[in-house]
Parts: sequence; C-alpha cells; structure tokens
Amino acid sequence: MLLLKDIFFNFNLETELSKHAMKYINIHTHSFKKEENVISITNIKISDIINTQYKNTFSIGIHPWEINTITEDVIETLKSLKKIENLLAIGECGIDKIKNQDIEIQKKIFSIHINKSEELGIPLIIHNVKASNEIIELHKIHKPQSKWIIHGFNKNSILAKEFTKRGIYISIGGNILNNRKLQENLKDIDLEYLFLENDDSDISIIEIYSCVAKILDLSMDNLKLIIFDNYRRCFK
Ligand SMILES: [Zn+2]
Repeated sequence: MLLLKDIFFNFNLETELSKHAMKYINIHTHSFKKEENVISITNIKISDIINTQYKNTFSIGIHPWEINTITEDVIETLKSLKKIENLLAIGECGIDKIKNQDIEIQKKIFSIHINKSEELGIPLIIHNVKASNEIIELHKIHKPQSKWIIHGFNKNSILAKEFTKRGIYISIGGNILNNRKLQENLKDIDLEYLFLENDDSDISIIEIYSCVAKILDLSMDNLKLIIFDNYRRCFK
C-alpha cells in the first residue's frame, strides 16, 4: 500500500532531482572551460583579478607557492577585496611544507585568507601539504563560521575524520582513479563532507564522479544528490 507520506517523499525527491541534483560540482579547478551541467569553481590568482571580469564562478587567493614572489600590493589587494559577482570562495591558499619552508610567513598569509573568508562569509579552499596539524590548530584558534574545504585530499581516513569531525570538508581529485589506498580510504569518509574536483588535471569531473560512485556502490544520481546537498550547505 502506498501511503500519503510516501507520495510526498517521492514527490519531493523528484523535484529535488530535477531542480538541482543533475548538476555536477567541480569544487576546485584551474580550467576556464564551461561545461554543461557542471558548476565549477575556477581558481584565480589575486594578481589576475584587477583587470579581468570572470563569467565563471571562481575562487581567489594567494597559493603558498607564490608567497616568496608576491609584493606587498598583492597582499593589500587581498585585504581590501570586496564581494564580487561570481566570487564563491577564498583560496586556494594554505600551507605547503615541501615546496615552501617558511612556515611562519605561510601561516601569516593563510590567516589573512581566513579573515577574508570570514568577512565575506564565503568558504575557504585550502592547499595542504604535510600541514594538517597547523591547519587544524588554526581552525581551533579562528573558530570560523565560514566552511573550510581541504582540496586534493589524498591521505588516510583517520586524518579525514580529524577534519570532518571539526566540520571541515574534504575534496578528492583525479588520483582516486588509480590510487588504491585512497579508494579504500574513501569508503570510510563521511559523505556529508565530501567534494570532488579535477584541480589542474585534464580528467573530466564526470569521470571522477563515475569512479567514486562505483567505489561507493552508489548510483550516479545519488552521488550527485549527496554532493549537491553538501554544496548547498557549504555555500549557503
Ligand atoms: Zn589547485
């Protein structure tokens, strides 16, 4: 017997699916290519924003690899950044202990991004190389209202849990296609905090979705619905 509440449930699910969930979310990319049915957040360097208008939705920040070469002007531009159309997030920014040794300067520049993300009320997209402890420490200190997203996550599920239990989202990229360990770890990651991305690779976001759906034994529609819901919560 079909109960009234089931009819309502089915109706809402259908509406939900047709309205939004057919869109893929590419949470972090360096590509400007516009793809049908994909919401992409294209990464832009703060030094590029001044003369350009972007039609894509984008994020903006100072990458930790740039820190040694940027001028005071660039930092000032970041500090005075106001809300711009299509600006969805701050970053990528963060800490990289392999490519950049000066942790204190990196923390300082990263904190400017944290403050900006709080001021504008938009999420922060984070580059993290061997700096999880520092990032979690800064999260404790700043207690941000805006959501944080660790992009390019490729570590174990214990670390994933460290982030997700603090309400920090994690985003997985193209290396899920052939990294066996990451594929195993994915099964233990809290799906409420999962995003997907293609970063600077040529792999299509749809291919990444399809691989993740297979690993998690989910239909493509269900995975799209889960990630879209995360997007809506994170970017409200
Ligand atoms: Zn990137």
